Amino acid sequence: MPKQSKESSKEREQRRMCQELCEGRCCRYITIHLDAPRLKADYDEISWFLAHENISVYFDERRWHVEVQSRCKHLDSDNLCTIYEDRPLVCRGYDSDECEYPARPKHDLHFDTKEEFDTWWARKKERERSRRKRRERAPKSR
Ligand code: SF4
Ligand code: SF4
Repeated sequence: MPKQSKESSKEREQRRMCQELCEGRCCRYITIHLDAPRLKADYDEISWFLAHENISVYFDERRWHVEVQSRCKHLDSDNLCTIYEDRPLVCRGYDSDECEYPARPKHDLHFDTKEEFDTWWARKKERERSRRKRRERAPKSR
């Protein structure tokens, strides 16, 4: 969310959207990459994440992430970045043209609660059991 004096009308409109309508949504969370959950220990860890407030877990573009809702300390009360010229690379790489606002970003899988994750985990285990049974029943090649 730039603090800039010289801006084109497109940039001005983008800033208005970021600042007034969206209120800097992309500056209010961080995400951390996770290994794909395969083992009971992975299930336990994600369940523990989801036991906390303001945490969700999602899978998108073949990667798992934990998302932590937390406002950036550099976002001011007008929803502008106070360190815009020196903002981190991750912020520079964010393409506002690709931004999905006002829709919530869609992920291939998204879990806000342990119950949602439990349902997915149970189905995954069931699919794995079925695959194992099919393999066991398949005739062995010589
Ligand atoms: S999520 Fe999109 S509209 Fe909202 S502040 Fe970020 S770039 Fe602007
Ligand atoms: S450093 Fe600036 S652009 Fe980056 S998240 Fe914080 S307020 Fe937003």
